[in-house]
Amino acid sequence: MFEESWQIGRIIGIPVRVHFSWFIIFGLITWALATQYFPQVAPELPHATNWLRGAIAALLLFLSVIIHELSHSFVARRYQIPITSITLFIFGGVARLQKEPSSPRAELYMALAGPFSSYLLGIFFFILHRLLGNYHGLQAIAFYLLQLNFILGTFNLIPGYPMDGGRVLRAFLWQRSGDYLSATKKASKAGERIALIFIAIGFVSLLSGYFGSIWFLLIGWFLYTSAQSSYRQADAKGILSGVKVRDVMTADVVTVNAHSPLSEVIDDYFLRYGYNGFPVVDGEDIAGIISLRDVKELPKERWASTSAKDVMHLFDRSLEASEDDDVSVILDRMINEDKGRLIVINNGKLSGLITRSGIIKFLQIKGELK
Ligand SMILES: [Zn+2]
Repeated sequence: MFEESWQIGRIIGIPVRVHFSWFIIFGLITWALATQYFPQVAPELPHATNWLRGAIAALLLFLSVIIHELSHSFVARRYQIPITSITLFIFGGVARLQKEPSSPRAELYMALAGPFSSYLLGIFFFILHRLLGNYHGLQAIAFYLLQLNFILGTFNLIPGYPMDGGRVLRAFLWQRSGDYLSATKKASKAGERIALIFIAIGFVSLLSGYFGSIWFLLIGWFLYTSAQSSYRQADAKGILSGVKVRDVMTADVVTVNAHSPLSEVIDDYFLRYGYNGFPVVDGEDIAGIISLRDVKELPKERWASTSAKDVMHLFDRSLEASEDDDVSVILDRMINEDKGRLIVINNGKLSGLITRSGIIKFLQIKGELK
């Protein structure tokens, strides 16, 4: 969901990105602070400059969110978990881990680091607020940030995955049972329930005419879908554990000749077999993969004069899987690298094709037979 985001810089080597939805919340917070908060807590301040104060406070809030996410990342790194990126979006921030923590202890410390840093920031702004007694404008900014950091720390400790508190819960369940997947499922279920409570609160307060309740609904909905998808992922991992590529791949692969014109590839392969992609071969060699996406990019008039090898993805290690690979690992790879299919190689020769849709189908059938 974070495709439309821009990198604004790197902190300790981690790319920090901003999703377009962040600009909405930045504008909303600045507006709410300038028109409601500052006039209330410091009515003597000139109204015009309240917009500037609002923008500064909003920026400091997002800096606080970045520090919260960096704290998670900092601990993750100590446990050898690389961080792909930190992204700011409408509901706050998210640090993307390249892999899951290796032990309950790593998970626990990593999860607690974020709320801990938010509380530290809260204390920092509390002290600032005390010291700035003579500067009402700055004091009001500090007061806002001390509140928000305490709220941020506490909100994140709610025990439902994917919130930090849900990770803490998962660490405890994982420690107790030794089963990472069932711990993930339980923590995600708790997350779903908490999200439903948020949605219910949102509805009730919406009926009583409180406009801010829209936030409860939106955040509840966001948490619900995140919890649900992590439950499904854990469920899929459970089903796929021990399943190897050779159990799921298609063994009799239809290949396309590298020199065939696209018009022929479309009529004799895409339309005839109904697959979304084929391995391309040049004599004995595997040359690449051609997918419907590659073909669609080219205007129709050029289909007859262009051959498969001109639009295909050249074969390299990123398109390769081995028969002995775990399907769950391969599925993760395909999702992370946005690939629909990989070529299975055995002893240097093409032995099959494994597709994302094939794995999904496998999961569906296994799920129904359960
Ligand atoms: Zn956090």
